[in-house]
Amino acid sequence: MRYNKLAILYDELSSTTKRLEKIDILSKFFEHVKEEDADLIYLILGDIYPEYDERRIGISNQLAIKAISKSTGTDSKKVMAEWKKIGDIGEVARELTKKKKQMTLASHIITVDKVLTNLRKLPELIGAGTIEKKLSLITELLTSSDPIEAKYLVRTLIGDLRIGVQESTIKYALLKAFFNNNKDYEDRIQRAIDRSNDLSVVFKIAMKKKITELDKIKLEVGKPIKAMLAQKANDIDDAFKKLGKPIAIEYKYDGFRLLIHKANNKVTLFTRRLENVTKQFPEVEGYINKFIKGDSFILDSEAVGYDKKTKHYTDFQKISQRIRRKHKIEELQKKLPVEINVFDVLYYNGKSQLDVPFKKRRELIEKIVTSHPYKLIASHHKITSDKKEVEKFYKKALKDKQEGIMLKNLDAEYKPGRRVGHMLKLKPEENELDLVITGGEWGTGKRSGWISSFILSCKKGNEYLQIGKVGTGVAEKETEDNKITFENLTEMLRPLITKEKNKDIEVKPKIIVTVHYQDIQRSPNYKSGWALRFPRITALREDKPLSEIATLEEIEKDFKESKHENYRYG
Ligand code: ATP
Repeated sequence: MRYNKLAILYDELSSTTKRLEKIDILSKFFEHVKEEDADLIYLILGDIYPEYDERRIGISNQLAIKAISKSTGTDSKKVMAEWKKIGDIGEVARELTKKKKQMTLASHIITVDKVLTNLRKLPELIGAGTIEKKLSLITELLTSSDPIEAKYLVRTLIGDLRIGVQESTIKYALLKAFFNNNKDYEDRIQRAIDRSNDLSVVFKIAMKKKITELDKIKLEVGKPIKAMLAQKANDIDDAFKKLGKPIAIEYKYDGFRLLIHKANNKVTLFTRRLENVTKQFPEVEGYINKFIKGDSFILDSEAVGYDKKTKHYTDFQKISQRIRRKHKIEELQKKLPVEINVFDVLYYNGKSQLDVPFKKRRELIEKIVTSHPYKLIASHHKITSDKKEVEKFYKKALKDKQEGIMLKNLDAEYKPGRRVGHMLKLKPEENELDLVITGGEWGTGKRSGWISSFILSCKKGNEYLQIGKVGTGVAEKETEDNKITFENLTEMLRPLITKEKNKDIEVKPKIIVTVHYQDIQRSPNYKSGWALRFPRITALREDKPLSEIATLEEIEKDFKESKHENYRYG
């Protein structure tokens, strides 16, 4: 397929904000895609591989500018100036390509396949001369591009496609294109996506228009799968109302999610962002081999840090370094040990457990896990119908320095990647949100050279809406416990800058932070319609994907509920 067709699709999709219209446009497009072009589905999500694949395009704005300059024969200073003026680097590429095309007649056709081939070479390049090689791969594409292709190629390169399509849009478009929009099949497509975690695989099978073929997609051990997420319980009564009786209660450990895969004697560990962190946790590999029976399995767990001397649990922020650390791993392993708390099983010895009721899955965990405190245990778990017992358990969890408790429906299935109402979390009421940094301001005086205040945004559909500005909680110097410094944040944000005007910057939404605040109020100053009062950054959420930051709906719901009686405890 010509890349131009895809570029036109992007343009059409950008021309509407309405979800149903986007689904309609996409489904019509899907009807004409051939099996060999199925990987273009990654490009529609701005990527070149499935989400779990860690190979990313990763081209900086600077390199994109150089490539535009080379392919259009425009001085890079001029490209830069245009960018400052127009604000959208893709649009700059479009304009400059238009000008060039008026002067030259030569044009080549680029195909989707060629785009994917060149883009897929980018992450493979390492070592000397990398930049030049990257530049030549990109310039080759841009030189053959027409204006609209250039616009979307550049946006794809810098990871800022902005066409408002997400996985669910694709799901509904597949339903419409290949299954007559039969709503009975929606869940079956979703399950196929959940199990394969690869849209191109699902796309290819869906094209055959046989839903039973999609049902045959299997979970694969070693390929990351998305973790199931929880909703909030307002209080214990609320939990019983939503979950029925009896329920399972467990500690809500304050660590990070770890999905454990084992097959053919090989252990692989994935975070909630689907990153492979096996190398960072060599000791965990040992625990899995020693303390868990079975040849092949996928388990869900929380890794929690503890103090070696006092054996008290520590908070998430402290051990989060272990996720990032790529060198001197042993040293960090000794300093920041973790305990693995296994709380679910998704696959066991050749069989998917996703559709098995939670009660049975828990029984399986108890059969296969031999608990060794401070190494690996089956999570603290109780089945009860008694409110008092839940209260006691909750108090104990807080005393043990955990975040609160999880309350789970015993009959429920495991639904990967979804925030389900059959797994609830209860923790002391705190004004806390996970938000993404979308902009900021360069500092002055003592803080010049650093970004000194940060614009925070929540999510609404595919949009990021500002909700406040924060400079508090960020330290000037790094300490053992606090890595959130102006310098560190500036270094993380610098490559993400998409727009700069005087002191103000805009950045690609990527860095996620936990923010505590005193209050929230309606405000015309921010696009979300809300403003946080006295916000303070308390943690960097490097374990969390962008798709899981706070949504406007949740914030509004919380606000409404907090006006009612609040459940407080401890
Ligand atoms: P929070 O910010 O409140 O920690 P979250 O946004 O990290 O929540 P949620 O899905 O809302 O994530 O809450 C569930 C999280 O709690 C899981 O992702 C998991 O990491 C953690 N957790 C700790 N203990 C358990 C447990 N026993 N069962 C399930 N999840 C647990």
